[in-house]
Amino acid sequence: MQHTIKPESQGALTAPMAEAVTKCVHCGFCLPACPTYQELGSESDSPRGRIVIMKEVLEGTLTVADAAPHVDACLGCLACEPACPSGVPYRDLISAYRAKTNPERKRSLTEKLKRTVISNTIPYPSRFQTGARLGRLAKPLAGVMPKAFQPMLGLLPDEPLPPMVVYPPQVSADAGVEPQGRVALLLGCAQQALDPDINDATIEVLTRNGFEVVIPETQGCCGALSWHVGELEDAQKFAINNLGAFPAEVDAVITNAAGCGSGIHEYPLILKGTTAEPAAQAMAERTCDISVQLMRLEKLAPIPALDRPLRIAYHDACHLANAQGVRQPPRDLLRAIPGVEIVEIPDGGTCCGSAGTYNIDQPEIAAALGQKKANLVRELAPDLIVSGNIGCLTQLRTHLSQDGGPNLPVRHTVQALRDAYIGVLGK
Ligand code: SF4
Ligand code: SF4
Repeated sequence: MQHTIKPESQGALTAPMAEAVTKCVHCGFCLPACPTYQELGSESDSPRGRIVIMKEVLEGTLTVADAAPHVDACLGCLACEPACPSGVPYRDLISAYRAKTNPERKRSLTEKLKRTVISNTIPYPSRFQTGARLGRLAKPLAGVMPKAFQPMLGLLPDEPLPPMVVYPPQVSADAGVEPQGRVALLLGCAQQALDPDINDATIEVLTRNGFEVVIPETQGCCGALSWHVGELEDAQKFAINNLGAFPAEVDAVITNAAGCGSGIHEYPLILKGTTAEPAAQAMAERTCDISVQLMRLEKLAPIPALDRPLRIAYHDACHLANAQGVRQPPRDLLRAIPGVEIVEIPDGGTCCGSAGTYNIDQPEIAAALGQKKANLVRELAPDLIVSGNIGCLTQLRTHLSQDGGPNLPVRHTVQALRDAYIGVLGK
């Protein structure tokens, strides 16, 4: 079905925003959970403060420009949601507010240029990889680059980027394994360029466990990066493309990047008021993280025991834990590897500062959070750090390599599992 997006679909975001604002009783229980409140210590940079600020803008008593510094400083980590006893759906407010006020935002030329570079590279894996390769060459010159571009260069890996992988449209389940169904895989854009091995590992683990994996050729960016910075039209365009690309005849759409998974779960809001809303709802319901799909199995394919015990520090990606409520399945999956012990990072799952393009847009706060996380992880002295989101993995690697301490390995959950299957985990 051809979906039509009318310009007035933006108006459909008003009701969810109003509901979020109305539900807040200003109790303040969310304040201690908010990383920016912890960092900046001001009410205006807390969830409660931001809800009031956004309400005032929507009611016309505060300007978009006055609200901007506080709204921009929000990570979108959604740690405020599980902390809220009134069930305020903050997610329905923050991105919708950004989309609604984006046309009124005044930005400097450098800021506009940076946003153009980001929106024309990261969502397109080959362009992103070319850009990242050029960026690596420019890294030694970062000091003389415009300040707005320096954080982008700082996040690029020092090692050469791996080649992109082209996958066949489908991969069969391993022969001799009991069939468990047919799933479709979203490849993720930054992930395909920065660490394609995560998708290799996902396909290997799924097929070993009896799943046939469909990899739609026309899939694209999930749209989350655009949606979280208020680019509604782009987000809708990406969502519509994926609604057409992913077949309905699969048991699940699998995501292995927390940001992409949460992005697809937001399709009903992104496409609210359009003819695509029911299809968006159906796709969101079919979509789940790789760890969730694997833990639905009665029994995982047998995993060989490790040669030695392995302590894994598991970092909750906000867009997995807070946005999708997925905390236990990745831990259960890792514990299923005989010899693995999970050690918890003692900060209640606070954001590492990655948060989509936040570490590019708000580098100071992002760096403070990244460094805090790296310090806490180091104190645990794990053998391995594991998380379920390419953004978090990049942020953790960047900050763990900055303080001169031992360079701890950082892997995706599904890479750890695949490595255990092939007998190389911890070697
Ligand atoms: S905890 Fe919920 S209700 Fe209380 S101030 Fe925060 S968002 Fe509002
Ligand atoms: S989304 Fe995160 S940073 Fe933003 S208000 Fe909520 S807890 Fe704070």
